[in-house]
Amino acid sequence: MPGRQAIALISDHADPAAEVGKEEAGGQNVYVRQVGESLAKLGWQVDMFTRKTNPNDPGIVQHSPFCRTIRLVAGPEGFIPRDRLFEYMPQFVEAFQKFQSKEGTNYPLVHTNYWLSAWIGLQLQKSSNIQVVHTYHSLGAVKYQSVRTIPAIASTRLAVERQILEKAHCVVATSPQERDYLRQLVCQQGRIEVIPCGTDIDNFRVLPKNEARAKLGFKPDEQIVLYVGRFDPRKGIETMVRACAETQARKKGNLRLVIAGGSDPERADERERERIEEIVQEMGLAEQTLFTGSVGHDLLPLYYTAADVCVIPSHYEPFGLVAIEAMACGTPVVASNVGGLKFTVVPEETGLLVPPQDTAAFAQGIDRILADELWAQKLRIQASVRVRQNFSWTGVAIQLSELYRRLLAESIMGEHFSHLPLSRTSERSVAQVGQKVTAKSVTKKAISTPVA
Ligand code: UDP
Repeated sequence: MPGRQAIALISDHADPAAEVGKEEAGGQNVYVRQVGESLAKLGWQVDMFTRKTNPNDPGIVQHSPFCRTIRLVAGPEGFIPRDRLFEYMPQFVEAFQKFQSKEGTNYPLVHTNYWLSAWIGLQLQKSSNIQVVHTYHSLGAVKYQSVRTIPAIASTRLAVERQILEKAHCVVATSPQERDYLRQLVCQQGRIEVIPCGTDIDNFRVLPKNEARAKLGFKPDEQIVLYVGRFDPRKGIETMVRACAETQARKKGNLRLVIAGGSDPERADERERERIEEIVQEMGLAEQTLFTGSVGHDLLPLYYTAADVCVIPSHYEPFGLVAIEAMACGTPVVASNVGGLKFTVVPEETGLLVPPQDTAAFAQGIDRILADELWAQKLRIQASVRVRQNFSWTGVAIQLSELYRRLLAESIMGEHFSHLPLSRTSERSVAQVGQKVTAKSVTKKAISTPVA
C-alpha cells in the first residue's frame, strides 16, 4: 500500500468484523471497527488485530481498500471467556510479530483496546520503538466494586491497567468522567486525552416516526419503551422491566416494551435473558413485551425512531454507545446517572439521568417523557443536534488521527507537545499523514506535516 502509513489497532477479544449485539460483541467491536474505517478514510492504512475464535472464520477480512481485520491464532480457535484469556496473550504477541515479518511491516503506532491488549502493547513496547495508545473500554477498578465474586485474574488486570497508564504514550479516555476515574482509582501519572466514542450519524439519523412504526409493525398509539444492548446483569435490564411495570402508560394499557439484543444459548448471556423473561412474566408484562433478538445497525435506526423513549439502566457504563445512537435518531433517553452517560446525556435537554437501580426513579422518568409530547419533541431535536455536533465517528477519528500524528512526530523530535490542545484539523491535512514511518526507522524526514 504505497504512500500510506500503516497503524495497528489491537482488540484481543472484540472482533471488529463480528456481528454486534451478542454477549461478547458490543461497544468495543463497534468502536474499533468504526474508528478503523474512519481512520482509513482519513489516509491511514489500518490493520485491526483480534483473536481467532472460530476455525471457519477467514483469517483476514477486508472491510474497505485500506482497512482490514486480521484474526490471529492465539490459543484454541473457540470462544474463551475474557477472564480466562490472559494465558493466551503471549501467543498473540508471537503471532502479531510473525505477521509483521511476513508482511514486511513494522507498525510504528499501536492502539490497544481493553486491558488484555494493553498487555500486548506493553510487550511490543519492550522490543521495538513503537508509540502505544490505549483505550480501556472497561476498568477493573470500577467493575470489581460492583461484582460479587472477584475473579482470580483481578490482580493481574489491575496491575496491567496501572502499567499501561504509566507507560503508554497516551491513554484515550472516552469521557471526562472516565479520565477522573483513572486519576482517582488507577494512577496519577501518565498522559490522558479525552476523545469520545462516536456514532455513524449518516445511519443513526432522524426519520419519520410513523413510517418506522409501520415498517416494524408497531401501532401509532402505542407508547414504546426501548432497551438496546447485551444481556448482562450489569446492564440493569431488570430495573427497566420493573420500572415499566410501574408506569402510567402500563396503567393506561398502551405500553409496549421492546428489548433488542442477542443472546447465545451456549453462553452466560442466555441465563440473563431467561432471568429477564421470568421477571417480565412475573410483572405481568409478557403480552406487552417484545424480545427482538440481535438487531443489525441497518434496522436499529428504525427501532430507535419508533420508540418514545430509550432506557439505559446500566449499573456502570464507561461510555455507552446506545445513548448516542438513540439521541442521534432523536429519541430521548432515560439513563443511569453513571460514567460516560453523565457526559453524553444532558438532563432535561436530551433526556433524563436517574440513580442506577432505582426502579421508582426510572418509572417516573419514563412517565415524564411519555406524558408531555411537546417537551418530548424539544428533547428529540436537542438530542439529535448534540450528537451531530459532538459524536460523529469522523470527528472522533480526526481527533485520534491528530493525536497519532503528534505522537509520531514526538517520537522523531524527542519532544512532548502534550501541553498543546488537540486542534480541529481538517480532513485534508490529516490525510497528508500518508508518509511511511516504521517502528525501526523513524527519521526526522518521515513526517512532513507541521505538528499541532
Ligand atoms: N447492538 C446492536 N444490536 C443489538 C444490540 C446492541 O448492534 O441487538 C450494538 C449497539 O447498537 C451498540 C453496541 O451494540 O453499538 C453496544 O454498545 P454499548 O457501548 O452501549 O455497550 P457495551 O456492549 O459496550 O457494554
